[in-house]
Amino acid sequence: MSIRYTITPSNPVAHIYSVTCTVNQPDPSGQILSMPTWIPGSYMIRDFARNIISIKALCNNQSVDLHKLDKTTWQSAPVNGPLEVHYTVYAWDLSVRTAHLDQTHAYFNGSSVFLAVQGLTDVEHKVTLHSPEGKDFTNWTVLTTLTKQSVDNRGFGTYVTRDYEELIDHPVEIGQPTYFEFKVADIPHKVALTGQHRCDAQRLQTDLQKICQTHINLYGELPAINQYLFQVMVTGNGYGGLEHRSSTSLVCSRKDLPLAGHPEEPEDDYRNFLGLCSHEYFHTWNVKQIKPEVFLPYNLRHETHTTLLWAFEGFTAYYDELALVRSGVISEESYLDLLGQTITRVQRGTGRLLQSLAESSFDAWTKFYKQDESAPNTIVSYYTKGALFALCLDLKIRSQTSHRHSLDDVMRRLWQEHGKPCIGVPEGKIEHIASEVAGTDLHDFFADYVYATKELPLAELLATMGIVFNMRSAITLDDKGGKPARKDQEICSLDARVSADKVGAKLIQVLTGGNAERAGLSAGDVIIAVNNLQVEKANLESEIASYPVGSRITLHAFRRDELMQFDVTLQAAEKTTCYLTLDSQAAESTFKHRQRWLGLINE
Ligand code: ZN
Repeated sequence: MSIRYTITPSNPVAHIYSVTCTVNQPDPSGQILSMPTWIPGSYMIRDFARNIISIKALCNNQSVDLHKLDKTTWQSAPVNGPLEVHYTVYAWDLSVRTAHLDQTHAYFNGSSVFLAVQGLTDVEHKVTLHSPEGKDFTNWTVLTTLTKQSVDNRGFGTYVTRDYEELIDHPVEIGQPTYFEFKVADIPHKVALTGQHRCDAQRLQTDLQKICQTHINLYGELPAINQYLFQVMVTGNGYGGLEHRSSTSLVCSRKDLPLAGHPEEPEDDYRNFLGLCSHEYFHTWNVKQIKPEVFLPYNLRHETHTTLLWAFEGFTAYYDELALVRSGVISEESYLDLLGQTITRVQRGTGRLLQSLAESSFDAWTKFYKQDESAPNTIVSYYTKGALFALCLDLKIRSQTSHRHSLDDVMRRLWQEHGKPCIGVPEGKIEHIASEVAGTDLHDFFADYVYATKELPLAELLATMGIVFNMRSAITLDDKGGKPARKDQEICSLDARVSADKVGAKLIQVLTGGNAERAGLSAGDVIIAVNNLQVEKANLESEIASYPVGSRITLHAFRRDELMQFDVTLQAAEKTTCYLTLDSQAAESTFKHRQRWLGLINE
């Protein structure tokens, strides 16, 4: 008994897939079928059924009534014999979360195209992939980690999975990607690049291989997979990734990929891309195997709340960058630059004082994934602050155990006790394991920094590694931090994120308590003049910074189409921009501890 699907990119120009789903022994009282409302790894209701543009059911070539029960569910009339459901899906969203189809390629996640057959999601599922018709597509090949049953040399044919959840956890790319392969821990790893690019494949391969090996070294083994695929969509301007059990889908910008002759020390864009690959690969353990208890199994009809995303996304975000330095792909200096940037992102927003990491996780569905202009003032990211909490916890365990144990031991225990045997992680379990590893009760530590909004003890803990925590002010919020200012002095800033507008400079975000808010300005306002002189995005921030602290200035701005005047006495910009430096006076033992933490020495 298995559920069988066929899928054909039937009309690439119109972005339409034709799908059939066959149920040999449908529910005698009428078979219920539904589309997921969300895709695991991306915690937002997306209602994929909205892209089904036609649907009908047949039994023995006779039409069967199909009744829609709600936004995402259909029920067939009772039938005597196999039920065939034929439907078409509109796919014109170039994101790792959904499906896309045009003349250049086809990409889909199963959660966007395969109806789930209620009551039968645990049985074997088979899918037959068909090539689009026409001479333009004869060079298209299939890339996926689905298990092959019988496929041709281009990869078209039938694939098989243990259940529905597995069916939708292997995205499929069909087209003409360029790719390369390498082995880590004897498992073949493939990188497929779709879209125009001039990537230096050899360079990317060398770096990725080291990063993957570093993650495997941490856990001691890979989960039970027989291949791994990095499926990359290269675009003019994109960034994102989604983890799967034996692959990841990524979108990157062309400029993120290394060209031939890329300097040995990765430049910022390439470093970000390596961090993204590292992040998704770490998820192969952390969230694909080590999962919140409530995700076993996933309920794809409704939101599934957990307060633990700081551990699954935040810890992953910590290790994605740590692995870059541990693998030798980036330098210690580059790693401190990245950490300084992460600290800056968290410290810039006063939302961190309102929302805890646990609350941010729980409300991911309606807050983190539905951010508006108020986000920095009202919420905190479980990615960035979660990564900083992981850093603090790691350094705390190290100092508590005279550097004999670390967060690495916590991750290994999570893997051995939860990930490998597929036992979900209950709420409260991580602090329990961390306390055992640290040999001291860390529940208050978690209570302060995960369940409440106390400021993280970054300066104090970084000092245990001989790292000095420095804060400075920034003229513009485009200053990501990580590096010292050319001139450290008291300056004035708008304390707002600004973009160019056709008549001036538009405020995108206005930070709580900053000069723009104190003047009475709001997100959406378009500033056109400072002290009656015209400004635009290019000079607005430097113009404000040219006034000494305490100056009274007048700003003119449009709110919608109404011209308004705002007066403000400028206060000094807050020091929310972080950069880290090494303490040259630190003891030799501190230097050794830091080197061991960053994998610069092994002993
Ligand atoms: Zn992630």
